[in-house]
Amino acid sequence: MAEVLEKPKTSVDRFRLRRLLEELERKEGRGTELISLYIPPGRNIGEVMSDLRKEHSTAGNIKSKSTRKNVQNALESIMQRLKYFRKAPDTGLVVFCGAIPRAGPGTEKIETYLIIPPEPVPFYLYRCDSKFYVAPLKEMIKEKDAYGLIVIDRNEATIALLVGRRIEIAASLTSGIPGKHDQGGQSQRRFSRIIEQLAHEFYKRVGEKASNIFLELEDNLKGVIIGGPGPTKQEFADGDYLDYRLKKKILGVVDIGYSGEEGIYELVRRGEELIKESRYVEERQLIQKFMAYIAKKPDLVTYGIKEVLDALDKGVAELVLISEDVDLVIVDGECRVCGKPYHDIVSEKSIRRGQLKCPDCGGDIAVSEVKSLVDVIDRKAKATSTRVEVISTVTPEGQQFKNVFGGIAALLRYKIS
Ligand SMILES: [Zn+2]
Repeated sequence: MAEVLEKPKTSVDRFRLRRLLEELERKEGRGTELISLYIPPGRNIGEVMSDLRKEHSTAGNIKSKSTRKNVQNALESIMQRLKYFRKAPDTGLVVFCGAIPRAGPGTEKIETYLIIPPEPVPFYLYRCDSKFYVAPLKEMIKEKDAYGLIVIDRNEATIALLVGRRIEIAASLTSGIPGKHDQGGQSQRRFSRIIEQLAHEFYKRVGEKASNIFLELEDNLKGVIIGGPGPTKQEFADGDYLDYRLKKKILGVVDIGYSGEEGIYELVRRGEELIKESRYVEERQLIQKFMAYIAKKPDLVTYGIKEVLDALDKGVAELVLISEDVDLVIVDGECRVCGKPYHDIVSEKSIRRGQLKCPDCGGDIAVSEVKSLVDVIDRKAKATSTRVEVISTVTPEGQQFKNVFGGIAALLRYKIS
């Protein structure tokens, strides 16, 4: 049970950590007896151990006998595990440990989780509570890389952010610049000057608004792209409208057909090359590759759970795509009534709700093993050097992948005969 969860590197690792944190968040102790321990990078484990020994002796004063026993057992379990470290890894170490009830009183079992986090742990913390303290880790796995997006023409501007895989519209502004004037001569020239003045004021407003929004992201802002249907976007980008710190981050100016919110989506599509390091574009390109295979090399694609597992077993899968919304698990067990062995792929929720029934007699299932589908796929994939990518459903492409193809597919090295 107490494997060390290594620092996440792939989309599968990140998915696994996210899922584990959701699971840990749901766990609850019978008393104030679940321990959360955050150890910053490089911290001497000997010092941590001596701190835990003190906590162990303090816990001797806990009045409730079962809570006292559970806290002390958890502390012993943590110390047992920490013995294998001399100092904390380069991003530190997070430990969750405690007695989790299986059913009624007396059914608790000590569970221990060691996690090497994706970012350095910023503090040392020991906490004993009825729940695990997962908030700092959840904050770490939030997608933070962001791009600033501005779509601008003479009439309106829309400011948005691409954060991780999500597009957030932040502000819309209108210029109030009147349309073309039909009088000629002197009044026309005066009118043009007024228009130029109004345009300048408008760009200034857009620049200030965008600067306020983008500068808040500090180092997480990887760049800014600007688009629009006419020459306005270039005037805006060249002028001193954006804060100088943001001007340095302009990755490019893109010609697009739309303005407004629609323009933002078009900007992300047309400006894909400029933001290709974003997970949004990565995922889009993976789905596009899959769609291209469907259209041009249908023999080299397969989708569906059984089909993909089969391709992995045969060692022909090159790339497996799995939607993060596919919360399926492989369950083994047996019927409590007739004893028939049970093996099925079901949703994780149906286990939590105790909805597993024997197909023969309708009796409840005694579950002996639950493996997440993603883990099973990942293990099989590693054995055959197959790449696995977990795809979100926050992009339209990811939604389509989930809805049309069931959220699981593989591109093949060669045709399955
Ligand atoms: Zn049965």
